[in-house]
Amino acid sequence: MSGTISTLAVPDRLPTASELKKQQTVADNEALIQAFHRDQLRWNNVDWVVTLFLIGVHLGCFAAPFFFSWTGLIVCVVMHWVTCSIGICLGYHRYLAHKAMKLRAPAEFGVLLCGCLSGEGSPLTWAATHRLHHQKSDQNGDPHSPYIGGPWWSHILWLFPKRSTESTRIMFRRYVPELVDRPLMQFFEKTFAIWLWAGGLALLATGWALDGWRMGVSLVVWGMCVRMTAAYHSTWFVNSATHLWGYRNYDTRDHSRNLWWVAILAYGEGWHNNHHAHPSLAPAGHKWWEVDITWWSIRLLRAIGQAYDVKDRLPQGRRADDVKEQQEFEQTILRDSAA
Ligand SMILES: [Zn+2]
Ligand SMILES: [Zn+2]
Repeated sequence: MSGTISTLAVPDRLPTASELKKQQTVADNEALIQAFHRDQLRWNNVDWVVTLFLIGVHLGCFAAPFFFSWTGLIVCVVMHWVTCSIGICLGYHRYLAHKAMKLRAPAEFGVLLCGCLSGEGSPLTWAATHRLHHQKSDQNGDPHSPYIGGPWWSHILWLFPKRSTESTRIMFRRYVPELVDRPLMQFFEKTFAIWLWAGGLALLATGWALDGWRMGVSLVVWGMCVRMTAAYHSTWFVNSATHLWGYRNYDTRDHSRNLWWVAILAYGEGWHNNHHAHPSLAPAGHKWWEVDITWWSIRLLRAIGQAYDVKDRLPQGRRADDVKEQQEFEQTILRDSAA
């Protein structure tokens, strides 16, 4: 029988702090690769809260022709811009995930609140998942690469598997260490869903009060279901289509591309090769024809003093700074988290 005392491995010394840290990093990496692996999509591992919510929002669109109103359409278009461009593109993405600018407290609260109303989850989860995407872009461990999981995985299916609280804890510790303990982030972490449901109820009540129950339902169907479905696919195309089709201004290590129609639908985020090449830049359009509507709002915030230290120096040539900027960024967030 093996396993006698003489065969037991006894370490000659205890691991050093840096060795322990390396082991932890390897274990964290492995856990996150596993958490976002396509194999996680199984019937017994579906996040039914997310999945049924997304199905419900899509199904609600079928009621849209029967509850059409011009007020509903206007609410839909305005809320699409407010939640998608201001909330997601400006707030969650360029401000929170990439620190492309600094915001005064009122603007910060406002843009993050708009992000919560988009129905794309909490600011912390969004920013952490997105930073993971930039670090592992189109490699093993990318949460939504069309080259790893296929086009449908990158577009929508990656949202369906249930992920453990342990993997979320690891992701927060690794990717948003400087944000996770901020009271404002914890506030939105606990309340993001309440804002969304309150928004829906407010639309129902306002429409009902203005012009009866049909108007209330019209505002919910158009202002929530149609608006969110359109905004979901606008942002999801950034994960799927702009890693598959379009042209490249920069030689990045990933497959990111610039795709004009996604840039229109997603308020500038379709210039995705520009963004991967220089992720901390506030403007996503780098050529004169690359229109970036979100950049206009950032300029407005800067003009009224709500945004400052805006990173807007456009680069020359085709050289991408994705790897260098990523390393510098990781050091910055570690330093900020230690402060
Ligand atoms: Zn990308
Ligand atoms: Zn990004």
